[in-house]
Amino acid sequence: MRVPPPACPAGHRWTTSGPGRPSERFVTCGCTIDRHHTLWVCPTCGMHCAEGCHDVALWAGSTVSVGITVERRGRV
Ligand SMILES: [Zn+2]
Ligand SMILES: [Zn+2]
Repeated sequence: MRVPPPACPAGHRWTTSGPGRPSERFVTCGCTIDRHHTLWVCPTCGMHCAEGCHDVALWAGSTVSVGITVERRGRV
């Protein structure tokens, strides 16, 4: 299991286990050569945060849940 970053961009603290741990997913993105990021979903606000992403607008829509618009995306 990967270790999540310490907090979401809105300041919610994340833990490495238990209910404070963000759920881990992946997203396809055009901003890097390997074209994918680990995606952490904040358990408090639901923000989808991509690790090492430079431009959240480049996420492939087919790899993100419907309704996760740019406003609900973040970078960690
Ligand atoms: Zn949050
Ligand atoms: Zn990216």
